[in-house]
Amino acid sequence: MAFYSNGLPRETSIVVIELETSEFYIVASLSTRKDTQVIYVDPTTGVLSHLGRVGHDMFISEQEAIHYITNGSRLLCKRTTYAKAIIGYQPLGSYGLLFVATKLTPKISCFPGGGCVYTVSESHCIKIQLQNSQLQGKGEIKNIMELSENDIDGKYYFCETRDITRPFPSRKVLQNPDAEFVWNEWLSKPFRDLGLSQHCVVLLQGFAVCQSFGGSGQQHWMVALLARRSRLHPGTRYLARGINSCFSTGNEVECEQIVWIFQRADQNVPFSTYIWRRGTIPIWWGADLKLTAAEAEIYVSSQDPYRGSVEYYERLSRRYGIKNMDVTIPNQKNSSIIPILCMNLLRKGEGKSESILVEHFEESINYVRTRGKLPDTRIHLINYDWHTTVKMKGEQQTIEEIWKKLKGPTISIGFCEGNYFPTRQALQKGKGAIIPNDNIEGGFCLRSLQNGVIRYNCADSLDRTNAASFFGALQVFAEQCSRLGINLEKNDFGFSQTNSYMESSTFGGYTGPLPTGWEEKTDAVTGKLFYINHNTRTTTWEHPSSDKPWKRFDMSFDQFKNSTILFPITKLSDLFLLAGDIHATLYTGSKAMHSQILNIFSNDAGKFKQLSVAQNVKITVQRRFQNHLIDSSRQKQLEMFLGVRLFRHIPSVSLHSLQVVSRSSACFLKPITSMFPSANGEPSLLSFGRKDAVWVCTPVADVLELFIYLAEPCHICQLLLRVAHGVEDSTFPGRVDVRAGNNLDGLKLILESDCIPKCSNGTNLVIPLSGPVSPEDLAITGTGARFLADGNLSSLLYDFEELEGELNFLTRVVALTFYPSVPGNTPITIGEIEVLGVSLPWRSIFTNRETGSKFIEQVQKVSRRAKFSVPGEDANHSNNPFLSGDSDLDYSESMHKGSVSGSVEQNKVNPVFDLLSGEFLFEQPAVQSEMPNEAQNWTPPSGVALDFIDEYVNKDSSDELSKGTVGVEHYLNCARGLTDKGHKLSFAEAIKLEVERFYVNLSAAERDKALLSVGVDPATLDPNRLLSKSYTAELYKFANRLALLGQTAFEDKIIASIGLESVKNDAIDFWNVNGLLETCSGGMCAVRAERKTTSQLPSASLGEKSLLLTCCHCERKACKVCCAGRGAILLSNYISKEIRNTSSLSEQSGSRHGRQSEGSLISGDGVICKSCCEDVILDAIYVDYIRVLSSLRRRARSDIAAKNALDEVIGLKQGSAYDFQKGIQIGTKQLSNLLNQEESLAEFPYASLLHSVETDVGSEPALSLLSPIGSGDWLSYWKSPPRCSKVEFSIILGSLSDVYGVMMLVSSCGYSVEDCPIVEIFAGNNINREESSFMGKWDLNSLVASNSELRKPEATDSKPDIPRNLRFPFKNSVRCRIIWIMLTLPLTSSKSINSIESGCNLLSFDDDVSFPQSNDYNSFNAPVGNNQCIHAKRFIVHGKSVKKEPDSPSQESNNMNIRSWLDRPPRFNRLRVVAEAERLKNNDLILEQLLPLATPPLAGFRFDALNVIKPCVRCSPSSEDVDILQSCLTRLKDRHISPAVLYIQVFVIQESRKSVTLGEYRLPEVRPGTALYFDFPRQIQARMIVFKLFGDLSAFSDDPNNDQGDSNSRDSVLASGLSLSNRIKLYYYADPNELGRAI
Ligand SMILES: [Zn+2]
Ligand SMILES: [Zn+2]
Repeated sequence: MAFYSNGLPRETSIVVIELETSEFYIVASLSTRKDTQVIYVDPTTGVLSHLGRVGHDMFISEQEAIHYITNGSRLLCKRTTYAKAIIGYQPLGSYGLLFVATKLTPKISCFPGGGCVYTVSESHCIKIQLQNSQLQGKGEIKNIMELSENDIDGKYYFCETRDITRPFPSRKVLQNPDAEFVWNEWLSKPFRDLGLSQHCVVLLQGFAVCQSFGGSGQQHWMVALLARRSRLHPGTRYLARGINSCFSTGNEVECEQIVWIFQRADQNVPFSTYIWRRGTIPIWWGADLKLTAAEAEIYVSSQDPYRGSVEYYERLSRRYGIKNMDVTIPNQKNSSIIPILCMNLLRKGEGKSESILVEHFEESINYVRTRGKLPDTRIHLINYDWHTTVKMKGEQQTIEEIWKKLKGPTISIGFCEGNYFPTRQALQKGKGAIIPNDNIEGGFCLRSLQNGVIRYNCADSLDRTNAASFFGALQVFAEQCSRLGINLEKNDFGFSQTNSYMESSTFGGYTGPLPTGWEEKTDAVTGKLFYINHNTRTTTWEHPSSDKPWKRFDMSFDQFKNSTILFPITKLSDLFLLAGDIHATLYTGSKAMHSQILNIFSNDAGKFKQLSVAQNVKITVQRRFQNHLIDSSRQKQLEMFLGVRLFRHIPSVSLHSLQVVSRSSACFLKPITSMFPSANGEPSLLSFGRKDAVWVCTPVADVLELFIYLAEPCHICQLLLRVAHGVEDSTFPGRVDVRAGNNLDGLKLILESDCIPKCSNGTNLVIPLSGPVSPEDLAITGTGARFLADGNLSSLLYDFEELEGELNFLTRVVALTFYPSVPGNTPITIGEIEVLGVSLPWRSIFTNRETGSKFIEQVQKVSRRAKFSVPGEDANHSNNPFLSGDSDLDYSESMHKGSVSGSVEQNKVNPVFDLLSGEFLFEQPAVQSEMPNEAQNWTPPSGVALDFIDEYVNKDSSDELSKGTVGVEHYLNCARGLTDKGHKLSFAEAIKLEVERFYVNLSAAERDKALLSVGVDPATLDPNRLLSKSYTAELYKFANRLALLGQTAFEDKIIASIGLESVKNDAIDFWNVNGLLETCSGGMCAVRAERKTTSQLPSASLGEKSLLLTCCHCERKACKVCCAGRGAILLSNYISKEIRNTSSLSEQSGSRHGRQSEGSLISGDGVICKSCCEDVILDAIYVDYIRVLSSLRRRARSDIAAKNALDEVIGLKQGSAYDFQKGIQIGTKQLSNLLNQEESLAEFPYASLLHSVETDVGSEPALSLLSPIGSGDWLSYWKSPPRCSKVEFSIILGSLSDVYGVMMLVSSCGYSVEDCPIVEIFAGNNINREESSFMGKWDLNSLVASNSELRKPEATDSKPDIPRNLRFPFKNSVRCRIIWIMLTLPLTSSKSINSIESGCNLLSFDDDVSFPQSNDYNSFNAPVGNNQCIHAKRFIVHGKSVKKEPDSPSQESNNMNIRSWLDRPPRFNRLRVVAEAERLKNNDLILEQLLPLATPPLAGFRFDALNVIKPCVRCSPSSEDVDILQSCLTRLKDRHISPAVLYIQVFVIQESRKSVTLGEYRLPEVRPGTALYFDFPRQIQARMIVFKLFGDLSAFSDDPNNDQGDSNSRDSVLASGLSLSNRIKLYYYADPNELGRAI
């Protein structure tokens, strides 16, 4: 549906504006909407933002929006790009890439039902440089740049208004496309996440074109040809052939031929469509390009070459089988069989290399048939050697023969016919299946459907395929025309017959005109159409059209040519020529060949003309693609464009960026004074401005403290400081403390005295932050290991000692304490400050968007898991599950329930603990379970999908266990069993013990505490320490490789599920790690790999006895326990492949990046037994599994933190299943009734409380007073603890505003005589209330007395248009940011009222109302004396927000003072101390520098930032990742929950050879190579200095795409970029006049 302006439909207009500040805005005015949206690209993270607020980022017109952004001035605009459509956007670390289409060519503009298909004829990629300092390798940047050059022009098309990813006419709406054909699904995700899914087009790859015939008096009709390329196996010729692990083939294209009659807008449009498919052969095959041979050598995979072919045909069958469409056609027999015809055009003669493929193709179809998985699908293969037939018999006969072969299948498959009706009323009259669609006015009525499909192939699905499919489609075209009454008949004289179609002016007959004397009728019984020939008085079911259906199939080539009007045919062949070239170009980079046969119908004169047109287009296309990169590079581009294999191409980029929460409406809570007040008012340190902005603070003697109020509550993850100072860099602060909390009262220290290095102006220093760690945890675990002298590799495999910081999504205030680097009364300079974090989707929650309600749903799910809650994450509890009173309660309860359920419920075995002995007992079930019951053993089953959390929760017995003490006891029992009596703990046992730890949900600190309490040193159980160094190193590499293979298999699995309902699950999951107590089931198992290793543990040889699998290596039968996880076979295949590859030439063909070579590795099908599996592979699986568990624990912690945050705001009560959505709806209406056009200024999440408020137990949380009306339980309200007579609320508004007054919604309990408070309100801008203005004082007693409505409890179901409220209007509006509301209860319950203080008389309500001494008042249900409390439901502050003045660039003239101050020459220079000798030790992590004797006192060292990246993928994905939404419930990534941090430790070796620690420096994240200067705490004289790099070293890796390939130059398991070689230089300070080498 188009919107019109000035009578013309509005065209989509996209304007991308870059301001002088390098900030980007996308201004979108869509043709499908009337308004204009502004999307802001965050300059730091690249995250898109759009709040949907009118006047802020929603405007009436484009002009208004642009005016708002540029503030009316064109000068602010650095660059403007005008475009016609958005193709996609993704922030990729240092760059955000925005793809826009700048030129479009309308290709099909008059589809039945409207809509225009555009080809992107020119596109542009806008590279947005981002300010964050993500560690990103050169190779990654190179890949991002290659992605930005991805060639889009001419190859992609889209439709803005309707779905064209499915056969015409689609039954689905635009927003629900078929993922198989959407090429920008990944690139459009940021827009979908914003709720602006329409702002990014649905992009298809391939070809769309339309040809019109007739017109101006003649019959006017159209033919359109669409080719949709599948994205399930994208890629180029030599890398994407045959089938892949996503069950799709290379160069797979769906083609569609639509013919329709052109009609006036108000008339029905008859149309018909025909679909066919083309692609390479659906088996595992490939071709090796040999350097010597001219032709590529074809090979077929030796291992299971037909796997996935069943799923391939299943997908076709689902898409093209009538029975799978939810449409019934009255007249069409509902065929239960779906025919699929494969027309194979390969050479099959002796000695032809293609003949191998032909044989395998035949076999594969037998394979599919014998599998019996597709009972309703009939797959036929016709082999037709095209090239040989052309050579032997000539072109004409080749065509005749293919017609003969195609006739039967084509007729039985048929095509789709129907009518488009412009209105719904007309549609009801249609005969057939009605297809309405919300994107379309009117609708479609289908009379017949295509059932099944013909699939053409040659080796590459290029030239022969194109030619053969043309001649096949041509026959259908002729039939389509005939049934639509389009005349292609040529009489003997070579002229067309009179236009019979025009004479029969109505289209009631659909299949063309009835001859005179005929009539069409509907059979009353069957509803079928029949025809009466009044001439002969006979009836027939057959349409009496003069044409015999499909008659041209029986013609010879010459007959066809002579009886058909050739003009449309030659036009059609032109379209096929173009299509062939596009397909060829997409796949091979060159135009199609052997196409002359398509011109066979052109007569000589015409031929020349047609050809030249076609040739020209060809040449254009060819030129465009001439500069093609080699295949592998193109393959990489395509993969990145689709968003797959990113973990390989850009491994450090995570899909969810952090948000900058210190911008827009954020502010400083306490003013900071500038030394140069002339320099423009408030410091703009929080807004994004110019890089060179410097703020000079007045000299501080001690420290500089900043209190930042964040724009929205979030969990904070990073602090970004932009270094800003003058020539003299000592003015930049030297250290910083970070504290954070929900409000000013609850600030917790999260970073103490972190050293800020000196560096050049404009450098971005990112300081990763984690939540506050409890001091107790810190004392027990963590630090110890980190600082061990030899502890470098102690946590190489995984973090055994992980410290868990508290996660808090309601963090609102961040306090930064800066210490000057030079003590003394000197000014401090600061640059821009940014706080980055993750906030919950509050806006969508409170505006009732779909994402919001899904979020609530997810959180409620987490709530139901409450029993599973991570000990210590509960806001009210200490981190000690032993001491927590609640845990004890739960514990006894669970003991009780546990023992009962064990004997009564479901015959499960329940573990029971004897409280006194601490013994862990298994209760044997009284009755043997009938079903193989995985719950027999309490160890959670490791399903394919590792969904143990859910399974765990659903199982009562395990649920009990997961709680506090029981879990600890279980863990300790396992630990004792493994360590008692001198048993030497093996690596596998240690890992399994850790698995138990994760299952019972203990943190590392809880574990350590438990172990220490029974006298076990936790370090002795650390798997990281049980292996030799060299083996650990090897294992580390294998585990990392396994993680990538797991990720690859996982991606494929997700893609493979497109178009299929579900993908089968394997019997054995990726890890198949059995529990400590699980052993081989014996019996039929011939492997017996897992036996009891220690007699100390109760053995439970359980598991599914019936399940026996065959090892694909030794072919023995193995029980489930004795099989290795699927990861094992992936990894062992990979290793053997790698060994093969390194010794062969094939790597030079460039297929290293290819899916082909890799795809064949990912054979998920086989199973390998544990005894056939190398130990290192099994161990790698253990490591990966532990990493997964640890990652899931982090995710669970984050989910629970999100739930707690929501509880703190809207008090989501457990079990109260009120309708949140409906509540919000009513609330929104009530609010607008209350406000009467004004704004609500104190609404959460924009506004918040600055101080904590004492709240009664069981009351709604204090923040609920600000949350939007309707959120939370209807009758609930906030109340103070009893006997609390005074409460102060300090509300910080969402932005600076003009406030007109305050409203208070009355609690549902109503007021009584004793709880009517006196209300006092103040307003101000400073957090000191003393500096605020008094706005008034109101005594509610009098109000309540006069209004009996306020005294009643609210009815449960009353949801009035205007809720009960009390208003406190201000006499004059006041401009402020903070409002204080004080509620005071009169101290006595005296009924007399003190006279209201003078001064507020004017403002108070009804101050002259005398107190009514009525019975009514005295008798109402007053809470008695000491239960007196203050209560309220909501505060609403109303008024108008003030538009923030743009930070005008400060005038240089005003800044003369500041400039000259900044330009002061430095007092000292840093001069280099050159070492006499250097020595690297311990994998280059330790650097020793021997200094010359006459060295000046050392002042510090320069450190050049490491050239490493932090890869995102650290372990295989778990099932939790499948549901994308669920996996990003909080969008808090592992890497931000426990950020990897590196430290440099410096020692001095003094004369006595004793080493003294000089300092320890946490390294901030900066771009590689940035020079960082760290000053020592004091100047030092020394002969030898030692630097040591330590921390989370294993989290870093080298840029894998770096072509220099120096990663093997150092014999280290760690990233070579971590080497300290040539990174550190010592310096001393000297007078600027002193000579020396400055550094
Ligand atoms: Zn076994
Ligand atoms: Zn085996």
